[in-house]
Amino acid sequence: MFDLIIKNGRIVDGSGLPAFIGDVAVSDGRIRKIGKVDEQAKTTVDAAGKVIAPGFIDPHTHFDAQLLWDGACKPALEHGITTVVPGNCSLSLAPLKAEHRKKLVGMFNQIEEMPLKAFDEGVVWDWQTFPEFIERIKRDLTINVAPLVGHSVLRLWVMGDAAMQRTATPEEVVRLQALLRECLEAGAVGMSTSYVDMDETLQPVPSRYADADELDALACVLGEYGRMLQIVHEFYNADVTVARIDELAHLSIKHGIPTTLSPIFVNADDSGEVDKVITRVREQMAAGARVWPQVQTRPIDISFCFEVPSLLFIRMPKWYAIMRFGGHDDIVQAFSDTERRAELVQDAAAMGGVWERLVVRQVQTEANQGLVGMKLSDIAAQRNTSVIDTMIDLSIEEDLQAHFLLSGMGHNDNKKIGELMADPVVHIGASDGGAHILSFATYGDTGYLFSNFVREQGALSLESAVKKITYDTANIWGLSERGLLQEGYIADITIFDPETIARDVERYVQDVPGGGSRYVRSAIGVDTVIVGGEIAYSAEHGYTTAKRGQVLPGPTG
Ligand SMILES: [Zn+2]
Repeated sequence: MFDLIIKNGRIVDGSGLPAFIGDVAVSDGRIRKIGKVDEQAKTTVDAAGKVIAPGFIDPHTHFDAQLLWDGACKPALEHGITTVVPGNCSLSLAPLKAEHRKKLVGMFNQIEEMPLKAFDEGVVWDWQTFPEFIERIKRDLTINVAPLVGHSVLRLWVMGDAAMQRTATPEEVVRLQALLRECLEAGAVGMSTSYVDMDETLQPVPSRYADADELDALACVLGEYGRMLQIVHEFYNADVTVARIDELAHLSIKHGIPTTLSPIFVNADDSGEVDKVITRVREQMAAGARVWPQVQTRPIDISFCFEVPSLLFIRMPKWYAIMRFGGHDDIVQAFSDTERRAELVQDAAAMGGVWERLVVRQVQTEANQGLVGMKLSDIAAQRNTSVIDTMIDLSIEEDLQAHFLLSGMGHNDNKKIGELMADPVVHIGASDGGAHILSFATYGDTGYLFSNFVREQGALSLESAVKKITYDTANIWGLSERGLLQEGYIADITIFDPETIARDVERYVQDVPGGGSRYVRSAIGVDTVIVGGEIAYSAEHGYTTAKRGQVLPGPTG
């Protein structure tokens, strides 16, 4: 008698080999038999016409905070994701001394656009060390979590305010190494660092004050455990990116560690730059390094309103300063003041034609409801004014609650991205799951992989697309016994309809602690998601009470 049998599915086992029809039997959290299963089970799932695949793994997320109030990382799980990697981009919630909580929340708010109120009202701060944090999230875990520890928080712990001012002394480097070792022993999957991010005061984050010797010393500790080094690099400059690839390759070979950099964007007007980057990756891989560039499947569509700072304005200093440091009233005042408004219009005009493409997404007043879905340029023509002025006027009329959408703003060379998805040296990831919650929905990138790149474009076969986000990811990150349907492996399984799997439309919902909102997407065509042998979600019944999530790779020794 098995716990669970999945019958008559097309088994896409994650290896990349052709699919075959069969059953999968599960007991005690592990896959026990694949092929024809005639025995009985407590639960049977009919998968006729569906694919049975390993659970998908999302290697670049910022679910750190959400994990404290939602151990399923909804709605990531219903898209078939059974493992997430939080702690990217030098930021994690541990190790963290009580006196640095405010600082870290400020950085999460600035860099990942997580609302301050969610931390105030959704988080009970009952941990400081990394092992304490692991115990904390394990209390309520539906999804598997492979947490990175952030270089910036390691520095804060060891160096205090000096972390944001200077390189570490040799004595501090030794303490950083010991602290990283403690995190890895408690189950961290690796360390993340950033070369680009700014904190809430628009100063470089602590990791950016580290020198090459410090990173080498920390990579040496990663090497003791063979764990991952993740970086967010200067992704807007191909030449600097190539130099980072060389640095990572050096650390990878010297210390025997995997490394990954994200994000790599492919804009329609600069695919030559991407070729330069991927060519260097290929050369370094051929030389024996492990340097995995992460490419996300979805184009960048950004939504914004002026109530909260938006990353769209980060390269427009006048706008960003009032959005970042001013409150609601300051912004309304700046919009209403003739002189300041003229400065803002000029600043925005430097961005070129992007404003022409804005669409009104949502308004509050009855009078403006007819504008929803209209292009701002058409409204501007009706009102006989400029596009930027229309954006400002509408925002004043709506008390800053006018929401705009800019589609395909970047990462929009669909054909080139398809080629990259299929490239063996490219790692599919960079979803940023759980971050930027008021700019776009970071859920459903896997559904989009199948709908856009497998079904519509034919850039990858079904089998290779599954392999990329299961077996490949598990191997790149050193997650043993996952990512493959094989007897004895952990039963993380996603059952989906290959003809319909997709991401649904973006929705604006209010489900963030503290009354906050976010953009989400539901899944289409995902039938059942199994974590650790237990059904965690089904399209028919929704989320279950299963709590089989594990921290990966887990404690050493
Ligand atoms: Zn990130």
